[in-house]
Amino acid sequence: MSEMRDELADLVADVRAALEANRALGVVDESVLDPVVEAVAPADPPASAPTSSASTKEQPALIAVPPGSTLFAPGAESLADVRQALGDCTRCGLCEGRRNIVFGVGDPEADLMIVGEAPGFNEDRVGEPFVGAAGEMLDKMLVHVLGLQREQVYIANVVKCRPPDNRNPAPAEVASCLPFLMRQIAAIQPRLILVLGSVALKNLLDTTDGITRSRGHWRELHGIPVMPTFHPAYLLRNPAHKRLTFNDLKAVRARYDSLDGKR
Ligand code: SF4
Repeated sequence: MSEMRDELADLVADVRAALEANRALGVVDESVLDPVVEAVAPADPPASAPTSSASTKEQPALIAVPPGSTLFAPGAESLADVRQALGDCTRCGLCEGRRNIVFGVGDPEADLMIVGEAPGFNEDRVGEPFVGAAGEMLDKMLVHVLGLQREQVYIANVVKCRPPDNRNPAPAEVASCLPFLMRQIAAIQPRLILVLGSVALKNLLDTTDGITRSRGHWRELHGIPVMPTFHPAYLLRNPAHKRLTFNDLKAVRARYDSLDGKR
């Protein structure tokens, strides 16, 4: 009897937690009971998602920089060294329209690193990634689902200068800037990476898979587990997909909790 009471108490706690997170992210109310249903019987993967071959056991995706490359030498340089090396960069044409280089922000020893696509209007003005409406959404994701403050993670983008009219960065621009992101990753040595949106996913992991197909399934970059999910700006335009992102973040939280000796 007391066992049953404990289980019920756990379920109530789950519902409360889901309610709080769903409200915070603006997820539709009818989905709020899903965590309880999942707790009893895990749901089948969505029809459009890869089968179990794309789960945690899948082969790592192709990577942008081969292991052993001098571009990824863990511990070879600090984050400050990377920033100094980037300097007042003019390596690609994106330097022409920028106000600020948006290098990155957060804990240089973070266990969780978040990688987005490129600075937008607000980021360019402030010089910090994910400010404005998308930044607020990311902060909600961090606080209410991952249980982390912005200061506890490290956030950076694939390119560090704003593309005009918020277009996707061109391949040549990514090729110029991506090595600095890889050096940031090597300096920070995060133990998990959350990648936001299709552009970041395709360039960081050198895959042609889109975000809709890839999200929710662990990948790997130089041995670091990588979870792709939707970009917060996309979620603002497509709120129905917040629920899927909520599930992806729960998977990240579970893996984060299982890390030994968090820094
Ligand atoms: S986007 Fe990157 S490579 Fe291009 S100018 Fe800015 S910092 Fe340099």
